Amino acid sequence: MAKNPQAEAGQYLRVNPITCVARGMCAELLPEQVKLDEWGYPILKGDPIPPQLVTHARRAIAECPTLALRADPTPRG
Ligand code: SF4
Repeated sequence: MAKNPQAEAGQYLRVNPITCVARGMCAELLPEQVKLDEWGYPILKGDPIPPQLVTHARRAIAECPTLALRADPTPRG
């Protein structure tokens, strides 16, 4: 499995809270789906990635400095 898989429409963003360093790049690149809490940690909208945001989601995943951001095909259980 790839460490940092590509996002596809209909997948869900996930953040690894252990490796996230609260730099906020994901919120800058994908504000439609990511907000930051008061400490700079991402709060995900939780909706599937819409087709029009796939490119932005892929860029946000690729630019995460610690590979903490990824896309997952299943909703959070
Ligand atoms: S870009 Fe990565 S390290 Fe930075 S806040 Fe988002 S998930 Fe965390």
